[in-house]
Amino acid sequence: MTQIAFIGLGNMGLPMALNLVKAGHNVVGYDLSASATDALVAAGGQQAGSIAQVVSGADIVVTMLPAGKHVEAVYANDGVLAHAPAGALLIDSSTIDVDTARRVADQAQAAGFSMVDAPVSGGVGGATAGTLTFMVGGAQEAFARAEPILQKMGKNIFHAGQSGNGQVAKICNNMLLGISMIGTCEAFLLADKLGLDAQTLFNISSTASGQCWSMTSYCPAPGPVPTSPANNNYQPGFAAAMMLKDLMLAQAAAQSANCATPMGQRAEELYQLMQNAGAGDHDFSGMINFLRDQFAS
Ligand code: NAD
Repeated sequence: MTQIAFIGLGNMGLPMALNLVKAGHNVVGYDLSASATDALVAAGGQQAGSIAQVVSGADIVVTMLPAGKHVEAVYANDGVLAHAPAGALLIDSSTIDVDTARRVADQAQAAGFSMVDAPVSGGVGGATAGTLTFMVGGAQEAFARAEPILQKMGKNIFHAGQSGNGQVAKICNNMLLGISMIGTCEAFLLADKLGLDAQTLFNISSTASGQCWSMTSYCPAPGPVPTSPANNNYQPGFAAAMMLKDLMLAQAAAQSANCATPMGQRAEELYQLMQNAGAGDHDFSGMINFLRDQFAS
């Protein structure tokens, strides 16, 4: 039976680990918060009291941590790289900055391990249902080993190329999503001001050249798409604070790569303002309300 060490059992990590238990794997969990492992143990997993303990005997190590500094802390120094058994496959599913992902992968390789970065989209709902999308960066051999495990937690598994490319795919996609959502909000606000109702604009634009996912699947104006958060008080969904995190990662990467992304930069500024206004826990499509209120005359 494959033994899996799972580090970081928060909103995403716990349901992902539970799906690995359900698939018949021997899952040992570790989290700084001791109570985070309770549900894993109740479902038939085990808990460990340290990184050295959790990776002991592991064939595969999965990490699901908040940010780059946590990933670096867990892998480096006296962490995973010092204690994991030789030959263990390392999978980091956290959403982190590209530079850190590549640096940690280099350190893993120098220590003799295969490692992939495998950030996800799909949120807590996708983690629970086992329908996440994984964007994977790393060598072909490492991807081939990771794929069967990722399939237990997700539905679409993409190999994006070299180490760090999973993170690149994720932040480029989400930068585009943030920009397109703001553009969609602006179009519906302007139409309303000019006397065109949301349903009519949707009927026309969703079949014309302005159509995009932010409109057709996730319309920020209440009405046209019944399942969108706009019809559920803008409950997330995908919180504005998480969109802001990804836009900040995209800007950090753009600066590091010396790439002009002025729309991405403006999207980051607007989501920062939305968060400052106290709406960071609203769905990111709630940008429509922030813009309406912010610029109301
Ligand atoms: P979370 O804060 O709920 O969980 C993170 C867990 O990591 C916490 O339980 C924390 O105690 C633990 N942790 C932190 N440092 C640790 C350490 N040194 N050792 C052991 N455990 C440690 O966050 P989350 O919502 O589960 O998100 C995890 C990652 O997934 C983030 O990078 C996030 O951007 C990404 N993500 C989240 C969502 C979402 O909808 N929540 C969607 C896609 C991607």
